[in-house]
Amino acid sequence: MKVLGNSALVVSKLVSDEQRKIISLVVSRSLVSRLLGDVDVKRIEVWANVVWVLPVKGSPRFVSKARIWQAFRETRRASAHQLVVKPSPSQLALVVNPLKGSAYTLSLDSHGHIVCGCMDYERQREVLGASRSVCKHIFAYRIRQSS
Ligand SMILES: [Zn+2]
Repeated sequence: MKVLGNSALVVSKLVSDEQRKIISLVVSRSLVSRLLGDVDVKRIEVWANVVWVLPVKGSPRFVSKARIWQAFRETRRASAHQLVVKPSPSQLALVVNPLKGSAYTLSLDSHGHIVCGCMDYERQREVLGASRSVCKHIFAYRIRQSS
C-alpha cells in the first residue's frame, strides 16, 4: 500500500504504476464524497477492481471505478455550461469564462484531438494521453457543436 498526497487515499500494490498515476489524478476525497451524497470521507482505498470508501460515519461502501470516472468527467461537463465559445481566426475556438475573465484557445493536434491550453487539460494529457483528456473548455466546444 502506498499513501499518496491526498491523505485519505490509499492505492493497492496490485495496481500498476501507470494506473497509480491515473488514480491520483482522478480519485479525490471531494469527488468520492459528492458521489456518495456529500458524506464526509475518512479513507479511500483503490484496489485492482474496485474502490473501497470508509465514511467518517457509517459503514464502508464500495464504488465502481466506472462511476468515479463518470463523475470526474461529469464535473467538467457541468462547469462547461457557464463558458462562452467564440470563433478564433487561426485556431479551432476561443473559450471564455465571463465570470473569471479567463480565455483558452482550443486547437487540433496532428492526430485530430482537440487540445486546450488550461492546466486541467495539461495535467490530464500527461497522464491519460490526448484521446482521453477532456476539460470543461473542450466540453463547452462539443456542447456548442452538437446544439
Ligand atoms: Zn481547458
